[in-house]
Amino acid sequence: MPGHPAGKAAGDPCANLTADLRCGLWQRPERPACCGGLQASEEMCGADRDAALSYLAHLERITAPLS
Ligand code: SF4
Repeated sequence: MPGHPAGKAAGDPCANLTADLRCGLWQRPERPACCGGLQASEEMCGADRDAALSYLAHLERITAPLS
């Protein structure tokens, strides 16, 4: 992941996010395939930004390493 040489920790924003929360690598070859291949869905995005962030927080909780 460009900008995250040791990997991106859960909960940390992507280093490639711009100040207005857009992808700084959009349409550039170094944009990771996992980002370019992501297919947004209603389940993922919800009705608004808060719903999308809540879903992301849920995914991070259920995929966090056991401590
Ligand atoms: S699309 Fe990928 S590279 Fe771009 S800001 Fe989001 S996570 Fe980062």
